[in-house]
Amino acid sequence: MKHIFGPVNSRRLGRSLGVDLFSEKVCNLNCIYCEVGPTVHLSCQRAEYVPTREIIAEIDTFCRDRQRLQTVDVVTVTASGEPTLHAGFGTILAHLGEVAGRPIAVLTNGTTLGDAVVRQELQLADIVIPSLDSALAESFRKVDRPAACLDLAEIIEGLVRFSHEYRGQLWLEILFVRGLNEGEEDVAALAGVIGRMRLDRVQLNTVARPPLESFARPVDQRRLQEIAARFRAIRPGLVVDLLADAPRQSKEQQQQAGDGQENRPDRLVEIVHMVQRRPCTAADINRTFQIGGPEKVEQLLEPLVRAGRISKRRHGDRIYYH
Ligand code: SF4
Repeated sequence: MKHIFGPVNSRRLGRSLGVDLFSEKVCNLNCIYCEVGPTVHLSCQRAEYVPTREIIAEIDTFCRDRQRLQTVDVVTVTASGEPTLHAGFGTILAHLGEVAGRPIAVLTNGTTLGDAVVRQELQLADIVIPSLDSALAESFRKVDRPAACLDLAEIIEGLVRFSHEYRGQLWLEILFVRGLNEGEEDVAALAGVIGRMRLDRVQLNTVARPPLESFARPVDQRRLQEIAARFRAIRPGLVVDLLADAPRQSKEQQQQAGDGQENRPDRLVEIVHMVQRRPCTAADINRTFQIGGPEKVEQLLEPLVRAGRISKRRHGDRIYYH
């Protein structure tokens, strides 16, 4: 299947089945920290980049396997790019609602919420997680490198408006890059926008995985804690999380889970698909596929690395497969 992946263990959502609406990256941003790679189609145009019926056929195939569907906590509509740019987005959400019987989450860069049609379609989702990395034009341009058709003031008005119309869970994600959007002026401008929105959570992130541009560096935890405290003070009860890695399993749990699993050939294909979508550590892969520990994952993947099918890259103190 080209458009369905997982379920994978998501830090935020549990066992998440991914639905990717594109075959190559379509986005109206080209963020310096992007894990997907450079934007192939930098566009604000909504279009059927992949036939809607092709995606729906894959969803139906997956959902017919009731045993596999049982392992899914949430269906996450995402994309190699911005999913709301797919013209069949609303149709696909409606179909998922009918056949999957699971909560639907949507990850969006939040830039299309000025469009009343997109806001209406998103009402079909149970959780919407839009991003906003800066409320200042210069930082927004440096971090997210938008297409010329985007206007930051319109994006912010769309986000604020959607937050008051939407009835589901709304989590705003902000990704901070060292030296670019973490200064006092940026934090004050973001606090101003958060103060105008109806939100369930704010999630603070930084460059945790290998970025598109090597100059995109992570912000240290102390600064993220300071910013979190600042946002919590905006409104009593506002939940502000720092996104962190999921807890590791004990060696014993890993061993039990991995018995006999590592040699399934379809596992290897699924692992390759997973690291094609985003860089992953051996521990990430083990959490999803229960191979029997990060060391076993490394052994399993070494022939693929030697054959050049996947490669390894260091980011901070971790090694990522991609
Ligand atoms: S991080 Fe998301 S919004 Fe930014 S370029 Fe990548 S896919 Fe697009």
